[in-house]
Amino acid sequence: MDHFLYRSGELYAEDVRVADIAATVGAPFYVYSAATLKRHYELFDQALDGTEHLVCYAMKSNSNLAVIKLLGDLGAGMDVVSGGEYRRAIAAGVPGSRIVFSGIGKTREEMTLALKGGIRQFNVESEPEMQALSEIASSLGIDAPITIRVNPDVDAKTHEKIATGKSENKFGIPISRAREVYALAASLPGLNVVGIDVHIGSQLVNLEPFELAYQKVAELTEVLRADGHEIKRLDLGGGLGIPYERSNSAPPLPLDYGDLIKRTVGHLGCEIEIEPGRLISGNAGLLVSEVIYVKSGEDREFLILDAAMNDLIRPAMYGAHHDIVPVVEPAPGEEPAKYDIVGPVCESGDTFAKERVMPSMKAGELVAFRSAGAYGAVMASEYNSRPLIPEVLVQGDHFGVIRPRPTFDEMLNRDTIPSWL
Ligand SMILES: *Cc1c(COP(=O)(O)O)cnc(C)c1O
Repeated sequence: MDHFLYRSGELYAEDVRVADIAATVGAPFYVYSAATLKRHYELFDQALDGTEHLVCYAMKSNSNLAVIKLLGDLGAGMDVVSGGEYRRAIAAGVPGSRIVFSGIGKTREEMTLALKGGIRQFNVESEPEMQALSEIASSLGIDAPITIRVNPDVDAKTHEKIATGKSENKFGIPISRAREVYALAASLPGLNVVGIDVHIGSQLVNLEPFELAYQKVAELTEVLRADGHEIKRLDLGGGLGIPYERSNSAPPLPLDYGDLIKRTVGHLGCEIEIEPGRLISGNAGLLVSEVIYVKSGEDREFLILDAAMNDLIRPAMYGAHHDIVPVVEPAPGEEPAKYDIVGPVCESGDTFAKERVMPSMKAGELVAFRSAGAYGAVMASEYNSRPLIPEVLVQGDHFGVIRPRPTFDEMLNRDTIPSWL
């Protein structure tokens, strides 16, 4: 569910006409709905009602400071994967005690930053990382709270680029070696083992892989406790999928996911953390773009947009589907058209959709990509020297630009020409 609905044939973001935002900030742009972000966070929070828990929003899905502040003010924790994200969380007012640090390549600088600034836990992914963290925490005279990310070797049945829980993936330590690695952690100075972490992938549209993974985590909890480790916290990762194609998909609901968690690990008395990203931010955002040209090819028509793969890379990178809808609905009875929908970048990969049936469009009209709030703006680049597009947040009947479009001067001034050239 989201708050992007048509009223009298025009697309609204909450109570604001999308066309009014376009008139103010210019296309293309991202627009996010505060009510949708809030609703999705609260669904997860409610799904874990009755268990001690913290919903740690995976910031990598959308790390605009305004989005983080909105969620942080509701009580969300944050799952960060870099020093940059850690700094964003702190800047948005989220205390270190609600920040978990994930990722396989945390540098010593990043560890120092988080230890000094405060951290709920590091999710450690390898023995060398553990050694490094032990050294740094000891030298600072701090005990670093850690979980160890285990790789349960389950098939998340998702796109190969976003599956993370198979033994061939680079993430975590094999669950079969967990006892050994926990024993090492217990022997090292400066580390305080608090629990277990797992994250098996993203855009899961079926609960079964979670069930398999969490059962393995439950068994491991008992084994590690018997070995004398205090396992008081389980970080169960993120990854719940969203319906990118409204017409034919209905992924599981947070409530069912919450029931699954209670069923598989509820008896252990652990505090539960989850790290949803996409399900909180994905359907809370649109990418709005203007049609530049409608071009007739030999056997097809191309809708050439002013947005491109550098603004939204998911279709080019993952073959991802986004529903693309007109901002003004066609008059009833109008014949639909079929388009290849493309951007202006000089690569054939810059194609958003092929043979997409949608209302007939003209140059100058606006379209909206649905479900573009996650892994959209954060993965954007300035390829082809196209400035990063603005981000806008709507709340009720007002909106604000939460990241302006840079000027061309700002863009060019980031480069320097050495004096010897
Ligand atoms: C990417 C990631 C998430 C979030 O995944 P979503 O599919 O956006 O929910 C959570 N935890 C970790 C460790 C991740 O890498």
